[in-house]
Amino acid sequence: AALYKIDGWGAPYFSVNSSGNISIRPYGADTLSHQEIDLLKIVKKASEPKSMGGLGLPLPLIVRLPDVLKNRLESLQSAFDFAIQSQGYEAHYQGVYPVKCNQDRFVVEDIVKFGSPFRFGLEAGSKPELLLAMSSLCKGNAEALLICNGFKDAEYISLALVARKLHLNTVIVLEQEEEVDLVIDLSQKLGVRPVIGLRAKLRTKHSGHFGSTSGEKGKFGLTTTQILRVVKKLEKSGMLDCLQLLHFHIGSQIPTTALLADGVGEAAQIYCELVRLGACMRVIDIGGGLGIDYDGSKAPDSDVSVGYGLDEYAAAVVHAVRFVCDRKGVNHPVICSESGRAIVSHHSILIFEAMSATKSGSLPMTSLGLQYFGERFTEDAPADYLNLSAAAIRGEYETCLLYADQLKQRYVEQFKEGSLDIEQLAAVDGLCDLVSKAIGASDPVRTYNVNLSIFTSIPDFWGIGQLFPIVPIHRLDERPGVKGILSDLTCDSDGKVDKFIGGESSLPLHELEGDGGSGGRYYLGMFLGGAYQESLGGVHNLFAGPSVVRVSQSDGPHSFAVTRAVPGPSCADVLRLMQYEPELMFETLKHRTEEFVHEDDDDDDDMGHASLASSLARSFNNMPYLMATSSCCL
Ligand code: PLP
Repeated sequence: AALYKIDGWGAPYFSVNSSGNISIRPYGADTLSHQEIDLLKIVKKASEPKSMGGLGLPLPLIVRLPDVLKNRLESLQSAFDFAIQSQGYEAHYQGVYPVKCNQDRFVVEDIVKFGSPFRFGLEAGSKPELLLAMSSLCKGNAEALLICNGFKDAEYISLALVARKLHLNTVIVLEQEEEVDLVIDLSQKLGVRPVIGLRAKLRTKHSGHFGSTSGEKGKFGLTTTQILRVVKKLEKSGMLDCLQLLHFHIGSQIPTTALLADGVGEAAQIYCELVRLGACMRVIDIGGGLGIDYDGSKAPDSDVSVGYGLDEYAAAVVHAVRFVCDRKGVNHPVICSESGRAIVSHHSILIFEAMSATKSGSLPMTSLGLQYFGERFTEDAPADYLNLSAAAIRGEYETCLLYADQLKQRYVEQFKEGSLDIEQLAAVDGLCDLVSKAIGASDPVRTYNVNLSIFTSIPDFWGIGQLFPIVPIHRLDERPGVKGILSDLTCDSDGKVDKFIGGESSLPLHELEGDGGSGGRYYLGMFLGGAYQESLGGVHNLFAGPSVVRVSQSDGPHSFAVTRAVPGPSCADVLRLMQYEPELMFETLKHRTEEFVHEDDDDDDDMGHASLASSLARSFNNMPYLMATSSCCL
């Protein structure tokens, strides 16, 4: 556990049990005595063939834990409740979940259900997100907020007005000045009195990667001049009372509570000014930004960590708003936050398998290789060899490496010219490897080939260098003997993970058991990836999303089971995304089998067209990832 810093990033949900497997405590710290879930057992249950009592789901696999989601929501709510109570704040906290972080239907529905007792709502940033938020909130608390952010056209605004007509507590947040004209016009046409918010562009800016949305040059929000113009327009239309919410967002992963307090304080001043100008202000919406400690370091100066927890975050917000409002004599507003990352990150674990690992490079330098080298090479070969061994004997290791490099370059040139055969080239590679190894300069890092697409499942690693904790989910009672990087299935050199939390360029890994892992399977988990990764992931090389299982309470709080299992998209599904028609493709290929293969070929050695057609059908229906040998069709 210490090697992978699990106690740092995993607490209170993840730890290692006495079998050396990752263990999950879905209720976090509150329920230390409750049953824990052995992650390996879940993975085996999900992936083993049905004939062995499993669910037969192909990997990769997302394990969703709704109880963790519930615990995150309740922890956030109680952090604010506590700060409000202890600081004598005179209004309540009422959060919303920004659905863009993970729009999965069950995630959103769970959040609405678990958050209903404390009026937890949703935030949408586009028309489809608004549609899903509207329908999900129909089953939620009537007071839950539905915050409409993002760029808006007339249709988006009309939809938000319809939502208000349907008694959903909808707020249209102006992100661009022009939106106010549409809102005034459409609300009059539709006869709906809207509740309006506006997003302020704050001067407070955070310097990390996620801070580019903040500051005066940030992409979103209204400048002070624009805010004043919007107020005037609303006043002129007799709608200033509709302006009730002030929103800002200074970026995700806010590194410190000092910066947070600075931003919230600035926003609270604007809030008080809007009150002074006559708006019926009720809510201050502090956006997202509540950070996650991905590496467990609590280091405030990194994009992958933050120097505070939920309690400190809530205390800083409540204090900053209260301080400003008290000085201005303004009633305390309802505090809303749009925390996404902090709510959904922990609830999902991506499981994937290492299929094979590179052995150290080329042919071993056997005596045959050396002989080859001595006898069959060009006339320079013996001299090269002698120079190398002389340098080695003198202990001049740098010189050895230099010779080996020069030698390799020369022989590669000769191979390109056609004067060296492939066995000779392999012997040169072998000699150079031997030299590196002998002087301790060989690269000890191995490449583990994993059944995964980085582009689909860890897009933020590829896109913005975001690091996530990646850990073997079993064998954690065995000291890992290898250092490795992970290389994915795509035909793309960016499809690899070669940076890990703690600034490491390799991951401690175990030797695969059986040659290339065929015997004992080796499962790895990527943790804390429940936010953004699923929605941002693409279909590079036509690898699509993983299978998903949902693990939740079955018979009361002491027993957990897989309560839902869905295989990932099939080859046919991904082809459809690219406008192909898999049914027609299948028919075309089937006719071709009938044209070229005769049914009476169907003896022991040859496949007839019927069995070829069913094998083709299986290929369309299976997932694009590598299949375990036992479930392979041919
Ligand atoms: N609200 C807005 C307007 C955002 O742009 C974002 C994401 O950047 C969020 C909320 C969610 O932020 P986080 O995931 O940091 O909580």
